[in-house]
Amino acid sequence: MLNEIDLSSPVLDAALQILVEADVELADVDSICRAGLATAAEYESMSIRDKNHFFADAVRARCHEKGYFSGWQLLAHTANEVTLNSGMVDDVVKCLQVYNSLRPSGEKGPVTDLRMVITRAPNRDSIYLVAPKSVGGSAWKGSEEYNPAAQRKWYNTGFAPMSPCSSFIWLSVQRKMVARHDLDACNALTLLGTVDFDFDRIEVYKPGFAHAMELAMRYVAEMGTAMQGAALAALLNFDVQRYVRRIQESWIEGRKGAAFFGPRMTPPEDWTATMVGDCGALCAFGYEDAARFSESRETMFVSLLMANIYDLLFDLRTSSLVSSVMYIAAAGVAAYDLHTIFLTTVTDETARRICNGSSTVIPTYGDNSLLATGAWAPFNERYRTWERFVKYTRQLRCSTSPEAQEVLAMANRALILPERNTADAWQKVFAPGVQYTLTSRLTVAYVPLPAPELAKLPPPNVCHTCGVAFTQALHESVGDAIHGIAGLPASVIAAPAVSRAAAIRRAAFFASSAECCEVCACSIGCWADLASYLVLTALMRSDESTSAAEWLLETYAVWTVTTSPVSVATVLSGFDLRCDVREEEGAMGSRDVLDC
Ligand SMILES: [Zn+2]
Ligand SMILES: [Zn+2]
Repeated sequence: MLNEIDLSSPVLDAALQILVEADVELADVDSICRAGLATAAEYESMSIRDKNHFFADAVRARCHEKGYFSGWQLLAHTANEVTLNSGMVDDVVKCLQVYNSLRPSGEKGPVTDLRMVITRAPNRDSIYLVAPKSVGGSAWKGSEEYNPAAQRKWYNTGFAPMSPCSSFIWLSVQRKMVARHDLDACNALTLLGTVDFDFDRIEVYKPGFAHAMELAMRYVAEMGTAMQGAALAALLNFDVQRYVRRIQESWIEGRKGAAFFGPRMTPPEDWTATMVGDCGALCAFGYEDAARFSESRETMFVSLLMANIYDLLFDLRTSSLVSSVMYIAAAGVAAYDLHTIFLTTVTDETARRICNGSSTVIPTYGDNSLLATGAWAPFNERYRTWERFVKYTRQLRCSTSPEAQEVLAMANRALILPERNTADAWQKVFAPGVQYTLTSRLTVAYVPLPAPELAKLPPPNVCHTCGVAFTQALHESVGDAIHGIAGLPASVIAAPAVSRAAAIRRAAFFASSAECCEVCACSIGCWADLASYLVLTALMRSDESTSAAEWLLETYAVWTVTTSPVSVATVLSGFDLRCDVREEEGAMGSRDVLDC
């Protein structure tokens, strides 16, 4: 089913206009014959200029016949002189097929006494109220620390200043795998993906889009280079994000819920392709050597699951049909927390690979993305992680539903899958009886340093007794421990990002305990989210003085703060799967899909 607007892509057209001017042939005779576009004799009788025009016309004709993603695919598979990762384009095509096939199943979670209302009210002194998703609030705006940190290649020409939440997620995922001298350009190209955050609809970002588009066209002309690959992937990504936005908007309007048929309709390997195609940041896949793609895409897929787990409450409210948690839930195994267990298995294994690797190895895009997303998801303010964690924990503890007690029990269990390979582990999630094959997660305890600098933040509004206990929890790091893979360097554990993450967690643990009064607990939960940007800021600062491995292990150590002794991801997603969510009229806006 093709609409008129699916038959040509302005950005692909613009790229073709540049490519035809190349002084080499875009596609050799074998590729042209293999694609069935011409006979060898016909093609070889043409001049280079004519060959390129002939080929570009064939791509445009394919767009018109089968839609522009088919045109992209023909370009990727045939133009052997152009850098354009064909495996990535195949994932995109599969992704859009799956997108068009997704239908809500109407299934409901178990009925419990857990409930939550999403509200825009600034006062949320109730464990039944939570704020909507944001793009990172404004606590960072006057920050003496954030603005200088952001100047170091975290801001981009033409794009107005962004919150740590936005700039960190878009740019950290490729931070340590793009060569330093290509970073500014790749950052601009990647920010074309902020269509996913609807930034193309915001006036202050329009000059940034215009600049990045210009840059993309300049690099499209650089035949056979990694930057040509990056530019074309960024343009393809722009097309994908605009295409899926239309579909996501129709889901929101339909309000049919986020449950769908999962593996009963879409095989697990097609789901991986769907997540990769819709990752929002294909640029670096175009930049990375295509030979690394099959490995790289596996952990990219898991980095999207990472975000989905924290995002679940909001995906449920916006009837998103592309949450990997709901995909796993459709197989019946989210009830055993298999989504978190799979995530933990792969994240630990990825960190181990980086930790044991040589210090000069360039990480894959997928590995970089997964570990950076692990630091971002709990500390981005966007997902209201700590507000939810505190309120959810308090509700779960007082609940009379056995499902609620089960969530708390699972959050303390620390299990993993025995499979070491990501693709094998992913298949295993759907094997009958998988819940009986789980093993204990092996970790080492590390002692975090204090983070006295958090005292400079405006404190939460709490009673005297809670105030004393809050201050003590925040600053007393002796006796605290974080649990991660063996072999993390002492310098990683001592990094300010890790100390701050641990301090924020101690405050949240206090607020979720019975010792803290309920109103004060709500206040501390919100405070913890506001303070979180300082974790991302510390990572932005340390980027400059660390190797790829050191920095990625630092992001891993930040994530691991949230895994044990209580798995924050289990509490959040376990609660969301079992609660009744409502929303005050208009609290979520028209499209807070804003999904990744
Ligand atoms: Zn998206
Ligand atoms: Zn109190």
